[in-house]
Amino acid sequence: MQTKMKAFLTEELQKLETQKLFKHERIIESPQGAEIIVKGKKCLNFCANNYLGLSSHPDLIKASHDAIDSRGYGLSSVRFICGTQDIHKELEKKLSAFLGMEDTILFSSCFDANGAVFEPLLGENDAIISDALNHASIIDGVRLCKAQRWAYKHGDMRDIEEVDSATDKKAKGLERCLKEAQGCRFRMIATDGSFSMDGDIAKLKEICDLADKYDAIVMVDDSHSSGFLGKTGRGTHEYRGVMGRVDIITTTFGKALGGASGGCISSSKEIINWMRNKARPYLFSNTVPPAVVGATIKVIDILTASTNLRDKLEKNTIYFRKKMTDAGFDIVAGDHPIVPIMFGKYPDCSKLAVDFANKMLEEGVYVIAFSFPVVAKGKDRIRVQISAGHDMAQIDKAIAAFTKVGKELGMIK
Ligand SMILES: *Cc1c(COP(=O)(O)O)cnc(C)c1O
Repeated sequence: MQTKMKAFLTEELQKLETQKLFKHERIIESPQGAEIIVKGKKCLNFCANNYLGLSSHPDLIKASHDAIDSRGYGLSSVRFICGTQDIHKELEKKLSAFLGMEDTILFSSCFDANGAVFEPLLGENDAIISDALNHASIIDGVRLCKAQRWAYKHGDMRDIEEVDSATDKKAKGLERCLKEAQGCRFRMIATDGSFSMDGDIAKLKEICDLADKYDAIVMVDDSHSSGFLGKTGRGTHEYRGVMGRVDIITTTFGKALGGASGGCISSSKEIINWMRNKARPYLFSNTVPPAVVGATIKVIDILTASTNLRDKLEKNTIYFRKKMTDAGFDIVAGDHPIVPIMFGKYPDCSKLAVDFANKMLEEGVYVIAFSFPVVAKGKDRIRVQISAGHDMAQIDKAIAAFTKVGKELGMIK
């Protein structure tokens, strides 16, 4: 009987509401895209991970239909029993070539890929050294393996341990962690390629150099990068000039690469073969459906044939960042289409950010505010995500709305 649990949860849920932490879903009544319909009203969407504007792209929808017609709806099997079709092998091959790796294994999500990747490779005599701001799925994946754990202060490469002023706790740099882990059999450094709150990009050059110096393996989760970072959109390793030096890449098809679902691990043929034999979410969970596989093959074909989409995204991002800075907003500098508009320097910044986002929706622009405790105190923000699916008129409309609301709320002149 759940009587006691229900009473407990009712109280806890009430607390979340009081603290304004309850997660309310906004219902969209249209396909995902630059323009969506919310509560019967059209608005521009500036908070999706739809970086390349592919979520509802006609070529993907067609490829997905074609895959259903030719390969069916579902496989009713895990991969190694009777769930592998020719298209699964084709996608794995194309992803390997796109990411510049030897082989690739598909998962239902990147969350699953990260849940899979650590446990088969690292045991209790090994070390996993993780950026403190890594994605929840990396944290959970690490929890599933028996390796000894180190966390380094976000982006800190130094051979140092000091009190972090932000947390008042002692924190180490990556090189210090690597030194401490020298007694272990294997060392793996794990990092997000791009970090979702600030849109900052991992220092992969320094990380790979340290990995060489201390004999470590580098694992990068490129979910917020694959498809658009770097000159040809291969990801953070291309952006940082270290293609061929990253040992393991995990990524999602749920963001730039189509936006539906699915993910993968890409690596050497030995590591991928090991995963095909040992990775639990691969062995014990259903194969990715043909509709997703067919569309993702189409995505890789589109991105391999031309850099138009990532070029347009880059152009849109530079334009938006410049115009917003010129308008007087406080923006975290960088190249990423994640553009955080910071509120910390204004009084009552948490409330201001939330009010701002609500007013933006009234202006027909959908953006999201993040406040404490999701981000640190004083780091309240509206996170904008630019897409290649936005045209210039839509970006100008968003900038005009930001400027109007910013003036109304006394943030800019
Ligand atoms: C979104 C994201 C994931 C999860 O991807 P899914 O395919 O939706 O499970 C994993 N890692 C990072 C860094 C992400 O941003």
